[in-house]
Amino acid sequence: MSDVDLPTKCPICRRKVPVPPVGSTREQRGMYPFCGDRCRLVDLGRWLDGAYQIPVKDTDDDEERESSVDPT
Ligand SMILES: [Zn+2]
Repeated sequence: MSDVDLPTKCPICRRKVPVPPVGSTREQRGMYPFCGDRCRLVDLGRWLDGAYQIPVKDTDDDEERESSVDPT
């Protein structure tokens, strides 16, 4: 455990971002860990792009299918 406030790097542009103090409100944290609104939106866009590409596996459907199998 350390009380040192190490600056974080913005995951988008790698600029140093100051770490918000512990117990800070959501408003105080602002765009953390992003340096600004622009980088936050860029990350959000990337996340949504990836989300659309993830194939959905319906495990519930698999279970149902197994129970409905009629062994002869
Ligand atoms: Zn940035």
